[in-house]
Amino acid sequence: MGDLQTEIQKRRTFAIISHPDAGKTTLTEKLLLYGGAIHLAGSIKSRKTQRHAVSDWMEIEKQRGISVTSSVLQFDYAGCRINILDTPGHQDFSEDTYRTLMAVDSAVMVMDAAKGIEAQTKKLFKVCKQRNIPIFTFVNKLDRYGKAPLDLMTEIEDVLGIRAYPMNWPIGIDGQYHGVYNRIKKQVELFAADDSHGQKERESIILAMDDPELKNKLGEDIYQNLLDDIDLINEAGEEWDDGKVANGELTPMFFGSAMTNFGVRNFLEEYLRLAPAPQAHISTEGEIKPEDKEFSAFVFKIQANMNPAHHDRLAFIRICSGKFERNMQVFHMQGNKNIKLSQPQQFLAQDRQIIDDAYPGDIVGLFDPGIFGIGDTICEGKNRFKFADFPVFPPERFARVEAKDTMKRKQFIKGITQLTQEGAVQLFEQPGTGMESYIVGTVGQLQFDVLEYRLKNEYNVDIVITMQPFEVARWLEFKNGSMVKPENLRGADRGMFVNDMKGRPVLLVNNEWALGWIVDNNPDLLLHNVPPDK
Ligand code: GDP
Repeated sequence: MGDLQTEIQKRRTFAIISHPDAGKTTLTEKLLLYGGAIHLAGSIKSRKTQRHAVSDWMEIEKQRGISVTSSVLQFDYAGCRINILDTPGHQDFSEDTYRTLMAVDSAVMVMDAAKGIEAQTKKLFKVCKQRNIPIFTFVNKLDRYGKAPLDLMTEIEDVLGIRAYPMNWPIGIDGQYHGVYNRIKKQVELFAADDSHGQKERESIILAMDDPELKNKLGEDIYQNLLDDIDLINEAGEEWDDGKVANGELTPMFFGSAMTNFGVRNFLEEYLRLAPAPQAHISTEGEIKPEDKEFSAFVFKIQANMNPAHHDRLAFIRICSGKFERNMQVFHMQGNKNIKLSQPQQFLAQDRQIIDDAYPGDIVGLFDPGIFGIGDTICEGKNRFKFADFPVFPPERFARVEAKDTMKRKQFIKGITQLTQEGAVQLFEQPGTGMESYIVGTVGQLQFDVLEYRLKNEYNVDIVITMQPFEVARWLEFKNGSMVKPENLRGADRGMFVNDMKGRPVLLVNNEWALGWIVDNNPDLLLHNVPPDK
């Protein structure tokens, strides 16, 4: 038991969110570098030329191995076991981000010092905020000109509505910072010139604030400015509050530069000190604590074709309680049967490995013969409970999707069905059109691009996408429980009547106004913007 407790306390499981290009990949790589999991930065392929998440995704696609490792990474540092979960940068994948956030205990928001809070960070942040987990901020690219640190603090407060607590403070003049002041240790870290282009750990010296050497090194003006800044943030700044940090109302804020390794170690160390170890999860049987002896976990992500040669499919689980052991028997709640967990995989830097055991907070990839769905619970022993459901994001864009070549229909159906099980898109059938075409619903436009790309690359099917004018989907039920059919729904022709993949009737309409008409003319109708529970 002591063993389980020690393992739990060692673990830190978190996700990094950012607007594309803010430096998420670079920071992740530097954390690996400092953690000793890689030796030279740059080993995770540079993704410089990519403009948005689809191209990120496609690039990743070309380098399968990397897609695996960059979605879940595990490494050890200073006695901690760290699990980093990657999230897509683009808002069109907010749902993916949300699912990933379900599996973590805290999040890191990376922000470009020159750009401040960008549109997509704001959207992703909102998703993050719904989880009420601690959020840490890393202000990146301090090696270049950027906004003033105080302005960035204000921006976080104004735009995101949370308070920021600077953990360190840059020393010097914008664009030419010499180092950072560590507010907790009350000491200064001055960085040597970076002569490895960020490939190696940056050399630095550490001086106490009262060290006479400090004034010499900084020069009178900069030294005095630093003292003034420290006074200012101490007096005018927010007070530290553990409770507020724990539920994401106060964000510990760090300044640094991932590329030039400026402030990265400081960030990592403080982060590990402050970030929570694995937390309890709510289930149908109450709270499940990590130290509960019996194993439990939930599926938060499914990915097909991790290895294109084998067309395998992995279900990623987050362990919530107890110890995981290879080949253990567990009960799969949603499938209502016992299964054996063979071939569990974990991700250590660039390698996938078969593992023998794992603990709460860890992410394990299970070989999935098509039995798992997102949000599914597995538990050990006599336990029978389900973890809280994953929210479904209502689709807002719709298109008719069909295979260009009708001879490829079988492949098309297989591909689109598998990608739907992954949660990449939502799928509907229009009664009467057979399975020649589907109506696909997404939260954002880029999901269609990904669908097209993956069907071509993984299933060798070219598709035709015809956008539909709808923006709203509603699942329909009659109050008396009778089945909704197009013929007993007044105004069914004002939108498109479809069924979801479980055969539940759904109406797609152009806008809320059109929906109003349907509501007014069918007083016995119940409408849901996500599938009603069965
Ligand atoms: P992501 O899209 O958020 O994963 O961003 P990347 O890590 O791919 O970085 C985007 C670009 O910013 C790349 O060209 C990086 O080299 C660059 N970059 C990342 N961190 C820094 C930094 O600290 N300073 C500067 N000047 N550039 C950086």
